[in-house]
Amino acid sequence: MDGMTKCFETHSPEETRALGRKLGEKAASGELFCLNGDLGAGKTVFVKGFAEGLGISEDVVSPTFTILQIYESGRLPLYHFDVYRIGDPEEMDEIGYEDYFFGEGVTVVEWSDLIRELLPEDAVRILIEKTDGGDDERRITVTEYRHEDSRN
Ligand code: ADP
Ligand code: MG
Repeated sequence: MDGMTKCFETHSPEETRALGRKLGEKAASGELFCLNGDLGAGKTVFVKGFAEGLGISEDVVSPTFTILQIYESGRLPLYHFDVYRIGDPEEMDEIGYEDYFFGEGVTVVEWSDLIRELLPEDAVRILIEKTDGGDDERRITVTEYRHEDSRN
């Protein structure tokens, strides 16, 4: 995969949230954002900011038990998946995930590596990692898919 990678370092939840907000402001219809990183890395913090960037006013919580939460008060619908508890990718079929992944809104998926076979190639990948720099430090790697025709 030939992607464009950007690395960020954040030093507080607020900074991670602000980075999410920036990406949410730029997000376009049909885009899919895949989030990975250990429990407590900051995926949901990122999504809270992302939702703000889309102009969503509701409080965002991780849909760990419901798998999917939909927010419609923003500039575009946000489909927030948390697939941590998915036992079998077939459960995603039951939810009708394709209507969201390939729909009009913007999708974010926490723990997307657990459903890797269902993800389109052109998703934006975001990895959040703790560092040894301190409890509140995170390294955030954003890899955007580069289309054939945008190569220069
Ligand atoms: P995840 O969804 O990845 O399991 P959460 O976003 O729910 O993780 O939780 C991340 C936790 O880490 C929160 O308690 C948050 O306050 C804390 N935290 C500390 N530093 C950071 C940081 N730089 N970025 C994001 N979260 C941070
Ligand atoms: Mg979470």
